[in-house]
Formats: sequence, structure tokens, C-alpha cells
Amino acid sequence: MGDIPSRPLDEIRRVIQKSNERSAEGSQKYVVWENRALRTDYEFIKCPCADDCWCRRNACPGHYRLKEINFEAFLETYLKLWIPPKARERIKEAVLEGTPFGGRQRNAIKPLQWLQANWSNILGKVREYNKCGLCDSPVPAVAQVSNLYEGKMWSQLFYDSLVPFDTRSRGRIKRAGYPDPTRDFLAMNRELFRDLRKLSDAHGLGVSGVRQLDSPCAVVPQWWEPPGGQPLSRVVDKIFYSPD
Ligand SMILES: [Zn+2]
Ligand SMILES: [Zn+2]
Repeated sequence: MGDIPSRPLDEIRRVIQKSNERSAEGSQKYVVWENRALRTDYEFIKCPCADDCWCRRNACPGHYRLKEINFEAFLETYLKLWIPPKARERIKEAVLEGTPFGGRQRNAIKPLQWLQANWSNILGKVREYNKCGLCDSPVPAVAQVSNLYEGKMWSQLFYDSLVPFDTRSRGRIKRAGYPDPTRDFLAMNRELFRDLRKLSDAHGLGVSGVRQLDSPCAVVPQWWEPPGGQPLSRVVDKIFYSPD
């Protein structure tokens, strides 16, 4: 059993805000790039669910969905979101040109090359899915995720429905009572979102209230405010993830 529903809301908000503050100060600045990615790579679509879906019963205005971008644009955003500045160019060359790379992030290369080879098929499936993590429907049935760079890739594809992990957040996720994402990425996601629904039920948050638990604009007020609030993967990720 996971512990999200039993945590006080104030504590969750504080933890998320701290994650944003540290990220805005750090070298990788994912919080900056996530804000940019929302403008360039995603669209906010009107909620397509039936009236009996949990999201509809909780006043869901819509979901984030990847736009019809090409693989190169996806890769640029991937590098900015998940790869430290110093390694970005070399990973890009390794993916696109097959140049050797032996650094810490080498596990990103194979999944990204696979994605490039299957881009139009996967993009079609991603856009067809059109649900959010709070929907009653099962999380998107992606291939088994074997490492954290593959998990980040799938989260970026389904930014509103799949939560990524890294070494430290994986430890925190397990200690909080959720499945190990390297053993069963989808089970971890199912249980995290089930508990996010429980948290919302306990406090009457609704979909918009859940998205507002993450508020990067409180850290940097001049930022662009995304139309639907934050993607759900961001909210859950930051409960467990904090940059160094
Ligand atoms: Zn919805
Ligand atoms: Zn729904």
C-alpha cells in the first residue's frame, strides 16, 4: 500500500515546491525546460471521456497530448529534460549517427534509436490514447521498461499519464510502498495514480486541484502558465524527485 493518500496536503505542496526551487537553481533546470516543452510539444485537448470516467466525475476540462512533432523535435526536448548539459550533444550524435558513447547516460541510446525507427507508429498510438493518468482506463500498455532513461522516454510520450523515475526517486517510491518501477513500470504507475485519485477524493481536489499541487509559477512568476495546469506526471514525479 502506498502512502500518498495519508500525507497531509500541505506537506505534498511543500515537497513539490522545494523540488521546483532546487530545479530552478540547479544546472539541468528541468523545470525551465518542462515549461518550454509544454508550449512547443504538447496540446491541451478537451476531455474526450464518457460521463462515468473518474476524471469526468471530477470536473476534468482536458488532457495534455503530444503534438504531431517529428522525432528530431522529440529528441531535442528529451535531451533538455533528462540529460545533463555536458552530455546532450554526445548523446544526440550517438542516437542519430551511432557514434560511441560510454558515459553514465548510455542506456538512453538504444531506446531512443528504437523510438526513431518506430516513430510514426508510436506517435500514432500516443495520440490515439488521449486519456490522462486519473482516468479509470488502464495506463498505456507500453513495452517493459528496463532502465530509467527508457522510463523517462515513455513519460515524455505520455506526459499526462506515465511518471518517470531516477535512482533516488526509485528508492523513495519503493519506501513509500509502491512497486519497483524497474520490475513493473506500469504497476508502479497504476498504483501511484490510484492513490492520487484517493488523495483527491479525501480532500475534494478534483482534476484541476490535483494539477495545481504543482505550481512552478509560484517559483518563477514570469513564466508562461500552461492552459490546463501542470501535466499529471509532473505532479507525481516531484513528490519523489528532487534535483541534487
Ligand atoms: Zn478527462
Ligand atoms: Zn477520463
